[in-house]
Amino acid sequence: MDNDYYKILGVPKNASEDDIKNAYRQLALKFHPDRNKDKGAEEHFKHINEAYAVLSDPEKRKQYDAYGPDAFNQRYTQEDIFRNFNIDEIFKNMGINMDFGSGMFGDIFGFPGSRGGDLGNDILARTDVTLLQAAHGTEKEISLRHVARCENCKGSGAEPGSKIVSCDRCGGSGQIATTRRTPFGVMQTITTCTKCYGNGKAPSKTCRICSGTGKRHSENRIKVTIPKGVDTGTRLRVKGMGDFGKDRVGDLYIDVNVMPDRKFRRSGDNIHVDVSVPFYVAALGGEVAVPTLEGEKKVKVDEGTQSDSEIMLKGHGIPHFNRNGAGDEIVRIVVDVPKSLTKEQRDYLEKFASLDSKKKKFGIF
Ligand SMILES: [Zn+2]
Ligand SMILES: [Zn+2]
Repeated sequence: MDNDYYKILGVPKNASEDDIKNAYRQLALKFHPDRNKDKGAEEHFKHINEAYAVLSDPEKRKQYDAYGPDAFNQRYTQEDIFRNFNIDEIFKNMGINMDFGSGMFGDIFGFPGSRGGDLGNDILARTDVTLLQAAHGTEKEISLRHVARCENCKGSGAEPGSKIVSCDRCGGSGQIATTRRTPFGVMQTITTCTKCYGNGKAPSKTCRICSGTGKRHSENRIKVTIPKGVDTGTRLRVKGMGDFGKDRVGDLYIDVNVMPDRKFRRSGDNIHVDVSVPFYVAALGGEVAVPTLEGEKKVKVDEGTQSDSEIMLKGHGIPHFNRNGAGDEIVRIVVDVPKSLTKEQRDYLEKFASLDSKKKKFGIF
């Protein structure tokens, strides 16, 4: 699939939010599967929505612009892209009057979207890690405030031992109809029953701990494994640690922030480090101690090494996230010239200078 979202919506890269919204509106109307029965329209409609889900979300758009289509699609699953994307709501806000029927969004997109039921929310947390933790992986404690399952009723909302009967709020239909008078006439809205969440059945006696919600508020700290290779902007998913819902338990997402390091600079999965080398080692060749992510390592310096030259330590960078291999470490040599000399050192250097064929050019003495 062509995943250039700007091209799909037919807008330039610097398009404003309104441009994007207008382009989406036009295309959504044109390719909506209820109107457009052409072959491929439904697939195209999905692409249009995917493009809009990303470009209408400032954070996702920033990531998309920064990483480009391919890397973006590696980082974000379809589920990530469509999270919080409620097509019914969007159409309503755009004044598009189209009925999506029962969970069509989910049917097209292949996962539960705006379907009814008691769906627990995903929650988002943040954690800071050091560069070394990012390189090696680590375990972090995250404080978590979420809706957890009520243990007394195991989330069912029914007091243990009670019977399941037809819901008294909706009369067992699972739906509640409300009528509103509007300038356009009387409108009837059907909503899912909030007591039985649409299934028409409820316990004869509700749980005394959670009053039938099946939930309780929970604040605790959990240990989370941070895999090696994470970078700032990496979003990790911990399945089932979001808010509890009877029909879906949400996931916990953790946004990782890698703090800057004093020694190493990171660029992608490569790391850069400056190493100071005495001028005579640079001239004669030798070994220097180089800091690496695995500790200090002796590295050979060739005879005649110049300042600012680079030595590459292949595979000594940050391990790639979720795949094999690692970046490289790039060592920049900084030739260190002594700020002061002893009498003896000066004598030797002067002797060296007198032997240097280029001395006239530099006008020494
Ligand atoms: Zn309960
Ligand atoms: Zn009900």
